[in-house]
Formats: sequence, structure tokens, C-alpha cells
Amino acid sequence: MEFNTDDSVSRRVKILTERISKGKEDDMYFYNQPIEELRGGAKVLVHGREMGMYASYGYLGLLGHPRINEAARKAIDKFGTGTNGVRTLAGSLTIHEELEETIAHFKHAEAAVTFTSGYVTNLTVISTLMGRGDYVLSDKLNHASIVDGCLMSGAEFRRFKHNDMEDLEHRLEQIPANISKLVITDAVFSMDGDVIDLPRVAEICKKHGAYLMMDEAHSVGVLGKTGRGIEEHFGLEDVIDIKMGTLSKTIPSIGGYVAGRKDLITYLRHASRAYIFSAALPPAQTAAANEAFKVILDEPWRIEKLNHNSQLFINGLKSAGFDTMLTTTAIVPVLCGSDEQAFIMTREAQRHDVFVMPVVSPAVPEGLARLRATVTAAHEPSEIERAIDVIATAGKQIGII
Ligand SMILES: *Cc1c(COP(=O)(O)O)cnc(C)c1O
Repeated sequence: MEFNTDDSVSRRVKILTERISKGKEDDMYFYNQPIEELRGGAKVLVHGREMGMYASYGYLGLLGHPRINEAARKAIDKFGTGTNGVRTLAGSLTIHEELEETIAHFKHAEAAVTFTSGYVTNLTVISTLMGRGDYVLSDKLNHASIVDGCLMSGAEFRRFKHNDMEDLEHRLEQIPANISKLVITDAVFSMDGDVIDLPRVAEICKKHGAYLMMDEAHSVGVLGKTGRGIEEHFGLEDVIDIKMGTLSKTIPSIGGYVAGRKDLITYLRHASRAYIFSAALPPAQTAAANEAFKVILDEPWRIEKLNHNSQLFINGLKSAGFDTMLTTTAIVPVLCGSDEQAFIMTREAQRHDVFVMPVVSPAVPEGLARLRATVTAAHEPSEIERAIDVIATAGKQIGII
């Protein structure tokens, strides 16, 4: 495609292209690195070097699990590698139904429906349920897919201050009682690792007659004694109307789901455009996801080990002098300051085989650039201690601690 030299598209392309080239020249470009091989659960091979993986969302270390790999292979033998098209018309595979039952059971819901990614799930579910004249209220730090779903819905879109229940309630009070309202939040926030105040959100939604939708991308397998997520964490049952999650993080596959009341799920199956106009999950990925939920229940030690590793990592970084913000989970922000400081920290860590990634503006406010490091159940405590040492040495070198 040829670009006109001074239209706004070519200007945007040029600015970003130059930023990327400059980053590469300065050895400060870290995106899209080639993972050549997975070595055990917590190590990867990059440019021929084995690195400790601290940028994974596979919190329970299930990627490569023999039972899950085997389930995927069997599904290929039985169903092949694709689905013949959309489920509504070309037929729904029995393995899709099995997975949706497994999810409903795992989430203590009446039913569940799957889509081909978590991103698409948020887009299609929010925009199918909500429309012009309705209100959607979204936490300021919610994931981009929630923001996009809200915008796509055409509903009145209000953002409340992060995890601020007074602000949420104040905004709800301003909406007339007979109008449909949906409150949406992440359960665990993806940049900060903190947990939403579910008891208060649920109470406020009930009081104001608002539906509650929760994105559990970072809480399934992470929160709750058996990894069932945020309701189990707070000892609450059935306070979330729409339980959304992804199959691409703790669950080592691809796809997204929502679980909830049966009539709601039936409605989505017949009204959401991503279900009706887009092909379903491939058999191997469906079977892998189905088996992964079972492995979580069969191997509860993984959740205990994850919790232990998270505490070890957070406490170690804190005692080295870092600010880890409000995290209490496996997502650990390591506050650096300027974007450049975060890039230098990343470069130093990666030079010492610790694979962490920076998060800089505009993804986070300027001056709050950070490393976002994650630990999983696949890390050994000794590996985590070493990663803390590497990050601390870099932090001292550039004067953050
Ligand atoms: C990753 C993520 C998604 C998107 O899920 P994908 O399956 O990767 O498309 C949605 N919400 C949150 C909070 C996420 O972190």
C-alpha cells in the first residue's frame, strides 16, 4: 500500500516506526521476542539463551502439562484441526458442549458459552447485552477489551475511580431507576495486581439494581482455595451476574467464556455476533481448555505453590526497597519512575536472563512506569530469589533503590 506523504495515517505510521527504530538502536526494544522453546514451566529459550520467565500469565504452570497435551492430541484425531464454520449452522462439536459444562461447573453457574478469545468475549457480550439508552460503568483501570466493548455497545459509558466504591455509588445514584445499568470490573487488575472490593461492589449493584459483570482473566486459578476465582476468595456465592474469563492465561489454550444464568447464556448464544458470525474454537484448543479446568481441581498444590511464590517475590522486592504498589497477587509491579528507567531496568534484567517486561506510558500514567513481573507455580523458590537479586542489582545501578 502506498501512503500519501502527509496525511494523518502516514504521519502516525512514521512516528511509531521511528520510535521503534530508535528503541532498537539503543537496545531498548523488548517486544515480540522470539521464544524458540519452552524449557519446563518457568524457562524459555530466547536467542539461544535460557531465561527465567517472569512475563507469563500461565499462573499455575500448566503449559505443556502431559494430560492437557494428550487431550489436545486426542481431539485432533477425533475431530481434525478445524470446525467447518460457525456452530449455529455447521454444527456444534460435542467437545464444545463438554467444555461449556466444565466451565459452568467450575464457576458454580447454570451455564456457560465460549468465544474465540477473551478480547472478543468482552466486545461481543457487552455490546450484545447493552445498547443505546443503557448505562455501563467501568473501573478506570479495566482492561482495553472492556473499554472497547463499552464503546461498541453505544450505551452511556461512565468510568469510576479505580476500586473507589463511593465514586461508583455516586455515579449510580445519578442514573434514573428504570434504566438498565451494568457495572464491569476486572477481578484482579492486570497492571497493578490488586483485587477489586467485590463485597462492596456486589452490595452497591444490588442496592441500585445494576447487573454485575466481572473479568476473571487474572483471578481464575489464582484466587480462592481451589482456584475458582474471586467469589471463592471472598466467600461469596452468586453475586456476579456475568462471570467472564479467558482460556489463554492460567488455562493454556485460547478463547474466552462467560458463565451465568441459563436464560442469559441462551440469549448470548442466539444474539451475540461473535457467536453467530465467527467460527468456534478449534477442537484441540477446546479439549486442552476442558482438561485444564480438571487438572486445576485435581492438583490443588499448584494454587498453594503459586500463593507461596507470590508472597516470596513481593516480600523479597519490598525488602530490597522497591515499591510494589498495591499488589497482593502474582502480578507484581516494580515501580521504576520514568519510561527510560523502566526500559533500562528491563534491559539489565534481561541481560542477566530474567525475562521481565516494562509497562510505560500511555498504558500507565507518566512517572509510574514499571516492570510488570509475574511468578507462577512453575518457579522454584531459588529461581525467584535469583530474579530478585538481579532486579535489585539493576535497581541500585540506576538509583531507584
Ligand atoms: C488478557 C485479558 C483479556 C483478553 O483475553 P485474550 O484471551 O488474551 O483475548 C481480557 N481481559 C483481561 C483483564 C485480560 O488481562
